[in-house]
Amino acid sequence: MKNYRDDFPILSRTVYGHPLVYLDNAATTQKPRCVVEAISDEYYSVNANVHRGVHYLSQQATDLHEAARETVRQFIGARSVAEIVFTRGTTESINLLATSYGEAFLHEGDEILVSAMEHHSNIVPWQLLRERKGISIKVIPITDSGEIMLDEYESLFTPRTRLVCVAHVSNVLGTVNPVGEMARIAHAHGAHIFVDAAQSVPHMPVDVATMDCDFMAFSGHKVYGPTGVGVLFGRESLLEKMPPYQGGGEMIARVSFERTTYERLPYKFEAGTPDYVGTHALAVALDYVSKIGMEYIARHEAELTLYAMHRLGQIEGMAIYGTTPNKCGVVAFNVGNIHHLDLGTLLDRLGIAVRTGHHCAQPLMARYGVEGMARASFALYTTTEEIDALAEGIEKVAKMF
Ligand code: PLP
Repeated sequence: MKNYRDDFPILSRTVYGHPLVYLDNAATTQKPRCVVEAISDEYYSVNANVHRGVHYLSQQATDLHEAARETVRQFIGARSVAEIVFTRGTTESINLLATSYGEAFLHEGDEILVSAMEHHSNIVPWQLLRERKGISIKVIPITDSGEIMLDEYESLFTPRTRLVCVAHVSNVLGTVNPVGEMARIAHAHGAHIFVDAAQSVPHMPVDVATMDCDFMAFSGHKVYGPTGVGVLFGRESLLEKMPPYQGGGEMIARVSFERTTYERLPYKFEAGTPDYVGTHALAVALDYVSKIGMEYIARHEAELTLYAMHRLGQIEGMAIYGTTPNKCGVVAFNVGNIHHLDLGTLLDRLGIAVRTGHHCAQPLMARYGVEGMARASFALYTTTEEIDALAEGIEKVAKMF
């Protein structure tokens, strides 16, 4: 693996006098220089509101914003830019979907399926919808090693099942779910499928046509882009039937007090001034990883994951959650009786940043009978030396207890 670390200035800083070992990439990735510079360059030399201006800067900012949409379209293999809705992130994408899809397609008594390993952002919006609409939510069970139980999944379908909501990659277990097969089964039962790709888009090639999903979402900040920008992909034929999520400027064709008509896709779902600097910087981030190659990144992180599973697995008292071989980029664990918060705090004193707690997946914590876990998560710049540092750090901490 070529050394890309120099592209990320933050990686050379120290924490408590130790070189930073940043292993919290599932929460957010660090930003390469080109992304940070794209943001400051645009504010310094292009900035103007998009879509509404005839003047030069507005046209230029609009061109960058719409070029970013095309970059996203190509990156995820969507058919048309009409299918690329810019949002604030995965969470907003799912709230948009739940509200708007729910309004168009779901009625009292309808059912949706949600997996046991979902992030809260792929649970709570559906629960809010349940309160509003009287739908029911069924949980797709998982095995002890952290895999979807496909037979059980299929047996949950009834004539009232409308939608499946599943993570492509679990942010805790790292499991890569068989979303293509799950889509095939959903479609065979006349249901749609939404794939939460927040943890797959940064780590592997993701193609909505190959997955055959109806909706998909991801966040810019987890794929080396800025915070505050994300994407909802939706099949054009479905988005056409869905009502707007929010009202305001940008999303209308014509407004009168008697009647308002809406803009064409995707603008119908993009009320107000978009984060046009963010969308451009996201495109710069996607170009950056494309140049390195998503296959290349996937291979590198698969090797790191294997190495970490092996190295951490040798530590006395180690319990690793998510042991399927088909996992990517994340290792969640507890060690003996050490509280995960103590473990994380003491590792931090050694310059090692891991995440601790419930990882916004409390139902999954309950599935494993724990309150929380520590989690190390990797990125294209992670090295085996950093995993060694983590393992040595854990051993050092364990000796204190
Ligand atoms: N879905 C998954 C699987 C995630 O890991 C996360 C964030 O950790 C989210 C959704 C929410 O992403 P965001 O906070 O960027 O909206």
